[in-house]
Amino acid sequence: MTTTTTDRYARSKELFAAAQEVIPGGVNSPVRAFRGVGGSPIFFARGTGSHVEDVDGNNYIDYVLSWGPLLLGHSHPAVIQAVNEQLTRGSSFGAPTELETELAKLVINLIPSVEQVRFVSSGTEATMSALRLARAYTKREKIVKFVGCYHGHADMLLVQAGSGVITLGLPDSPGVPAATASDTLTVEYNDVAGVTEIFRQYGEQIAAVIVEPIAANMGFVVPEPGFLQTLRELTTANGALLIIDEVMTGFRAAPGGAQVHWGVEPDLTCLGKVIGGGLPVGAYAGKKAIMQTVAPAGPMYQAGTLSGNPLAMAAGIAMLRTAFEAPEGETTLFERAVARTQNLADGIRSLSEETGVPLQVGNIGTMFGFYFLKEPGVKVRSYAEAKEYVDAARYSKFFWAMCERGVYMAPSQFEAGFLSSAHDSVDIAVTLTACREAFLAARG
Ligand SMILES: *Cc1c(COP(=O)(O)O)cnc(C)c1O
Repeated sequence: MTTTTTDRYARSKELFAAAQEVIPGGVNSPVRAFRGVGGSPIFFARGTGSHVEDVDGNNYIDYVLSWGPLLLGHSHPAVIQAVNEQLTRGSSFGAPTELETELAKLVINLIPSVEQVRFVSSGTEATMSALRLARAYTKREKIVKFVGCYHGHADMLLVQAGSGVITLGLPDSPGVPAATASDTLTVEYNDVAGVTEIFRQYGEQIAAVIVEPIAANMGFVVPEPGFLQTLRELTTANGALLIIDEVMTGFRAAPGGAQVHWGVEPDLTCLGKVIGGGLPVGAYAGKKAIMQTVAPAGPMYQAGTLSGNPLAMAAGIAMLRTAFEAPEGETTLFERAVARTQNLADGIRSLSEETGVPLQVGNIGTMFGFYFLKEPGVKVRSYAEAKEYVDAARYSKFFWAMCERGVYMAPSQFEAGFLSSAHDSVDIAVTLTACREAFLAARG
């Protein structure tokens, strides 16, 4: 057994046992159960800035940040103030508020391909609705997705779907009707020949291609040069839509998302995570000509009692303003977080060389990720290659060694890491010191 058997996590273990009595598996989202690293999940009590404290009083520098949303860190004063002020005015009306227009305008200003936005309450709802829209708009039914890309848990997207599913070893979930899944065509990430062949066979039936512009639900895999451009060309040539799922990368890979980083313009963009400032929000967005298909402007039905919720809108507005607006000539908080991410990733690259632990390290914007490789010199470009080359046992040892040293990284190697503007140079130095020791422990 690992160090998880010590008393350091005693209260977390008690709470997990109690949770398992009343919640399936003790968690409300599977990756939280730590199946990817073994041991019992850590229960958190509070978070401030770059740090979280667990229920046993242990402190950690947090690189999970609620799986991405907390671009400004935990409990940022601007977000707290915005939510508190709105709370005193009312938490939900089921009627329009000015806040929705304000957040939509911020999104439109940040993401050049976006002309209109529809807010929903989660990333899952965003991708599910974007696909319904693509099908309504093109009057076609088939969709193309990539193996290892996760787009939320809607039936037609829960096919070959990345991290949570990978960790549990479920290629597909029971309960997804075979008929629904059969309209989802899958191909390996970065497989240009494969996706070209799918279009050759099914081109006239394909409503949309949906893709993560950084495959960050199977670790951290970047598109090879020309991959996303090929998707743009194939969809345009065949009358299908290109949906870039920026639920994770939006406002993180670059202010305008990974689509701006890579220079590829989609028809539709899915958003979530950061856009809600830590409260539940998602959105799908794109060209006005397409978005006008959505009810009540057009015939495609999609609705939500808490969609555009005022508290969540207020949090999202506060987060985006605070992260991306700065006086002329001054760096934004976002740019500061990008610089720290670069420092961390460069430090991890050096430690890989120094300790002789073979890693594949990636970072873009405020996101990073690394794989422990079974051998040096190999490169992971797809889920098939991740399965072949990644050393999962080493990551478990590394993860727990980092926890003991006060650093909380994702409890699965098939996930990305995140920084916030609250992570400072001391945090990075402490993290790299911990990494050196944890790499040696993992190599051991
Ligand atoms: C997290 C995520 C989703 C799902 O969002 P939820 O809010 O968890 O439903 C969809 N797509 C991507 C790329 C994600 O990372």
